Amino acid sequence: MTRTLFEKLWEIHEVALFDNGESLIRIDRVFLHERTGSIALQGLEEKGRSVANPKHVFCTMDHIVDTKPGRSDSTQMPSGKDFITATRNSARRADIELFDLDSQFQGIVHVISPELGIALPGSTVVCPDSHTCTLGGIGALAWGIGSSEAEHAMATNTLRVKKPKTLRVNFEGALAPSVTAKDMILHLISCFGSDGGAGCACEFAGPAVRELSIEERMTLCNMAVEFSAFTGLVAVDEKTIEYSSNRKFSPKAHLIAAAIDHWRSLKSDENAVFDNEITICCNDIKPTVTWGTSPQHALSIDAFIPSPLHIENAETKESWSRALDYMDLMPETPITSIKIDCAFIGSCTNSRIGDLRKAAAFLRGKKVSPWVKAVCVPGSTQVKKEAEKEGLDEVFTAAGFEWRESGCSMCFYAGGETFGPNKRVISTTNRNFEGRQGPGTRTHLASPLTVVASACSGYICSAEN
Ligand code: SF4
Repeated sequence: MTRTLFEKLWEIHEVALFDNGESLIRIDRVFLHERTGSIALQGLEEKGRSVANPKHVFCTMDHIVDTKPGRSDSTQMPSGKDFITATRNSARRADIELFDLDSQFQGIVHVISPELGIALPGSTVVCPDSHTCTLGGIGALAWGIGSSEAEHAMATNTLRVKKPKTLRVNFEGALAPSVTAKDMILHLISCFGSDGGAGCACEFAGPAVRELSIEERMTLCNMAVEFSAFTGLVAVDEKTIEYSSNRKFSPKAHLIAAAIDHWRSLKSDENAVFDNEITICCNDIKPTVTWGTSPQHALSIDAFIPSPLHIENAETKESWSRALDYMDLMPETPITSIKIDCAFIGSCTNSRIGDLRKAAAFLRGKKVSPWVKAVCVPGSTQVKKEAEKEGLDEVFTAAGFEWRESGCSMCFYAGGETFGPNKRVISTTNRNFEGRQGPGTRTHLASPLTVVASACSGYICSAEN
């Protein structure tokens, strides 16, 4: 019988099937961060339980931490320091590995997890954070959970989960040079809606996906949750194997050959049947940006802001009107005439070394517009060091970008970092909800290339202009 990649991963990890249709799934790795991780660790302690296998549980400081150079435990949010201290103390008591502020391996959880080989092809990884699906880019079965599930996973190495349906998204054709994985996923969500993959394990496949680097595949899978998918996945190939071998925690010596043999089997069988399939022609995708307050409010760069007047569905009409109001935009405005105040490169979507290289290649010899505040936050301390070794930091700062320490920063207001109310930001992040980047901040999601091009122009534009 043929099986999809997801079905293979599920089968390998299924410990038991209950009468109510839920499965007990073996969890290989739990990754925590200081915002919700400290709550989960304290919850375990209060119940008198311990971490079953401390070697398989990791924690980082990313969500709340300050990203300004010379940072300390203090953050822009007064309560931030308490979360950081509590996490540090709980991690020490639980005897789990913590990538603290002074660690060379610190960074955003979904960036460092594959970077360090904690997430590996075929492994199950959970984290109390929605964008854990990022790890599907290396063929890991990974999904976001709540704090109490994290407690359960740490105490038992298992979780009860209802098996999701399967969906394959086939990206046919080829991408134009200024079109990236970020544009692919925004385009998909704009075509099928932010609930288009509701509850599904969504495999991204097709020639355009095979051409993507591993980091770009992670960008694609990162936003699977914005498509309401249970998770995103990409089949393992030789690029994945090269990426995941020789990482800090990847199998060593005699174990690596067996691991690679196993990794090579992690793809859907040729005639595997999915519950649903979607096909997208990549030749049609242009640089894509959001205009509203949902990732599905996305349009090609050469489009115009839509008008709710033409919408019949009352709920959509109301949500578009509210989005236009929050974003302070008028219908029929060309996207490229929107003036920006700020530009942000960072987050677990687009802050890896490949993103920074692409952005720096565009920025070399150029200047950020005088009215734009531009910030670049590398996804991990290792990414930052690599970028500095290549001189990319100098390209960013010479162009007028701030160059920061690693963390979630202005992806999310949890740490209090923000561009401020009413500021219009072109951003490589993954969410554009009201207040996501701070109260009143207006977010336009885009690729790193579109962000740097817009930062230089002062108006939203693509790197082709
Ligand atoms: S970068 Fe943003 S989306 Fe990613 S883990 Fe941090 S807060 Fe969540």
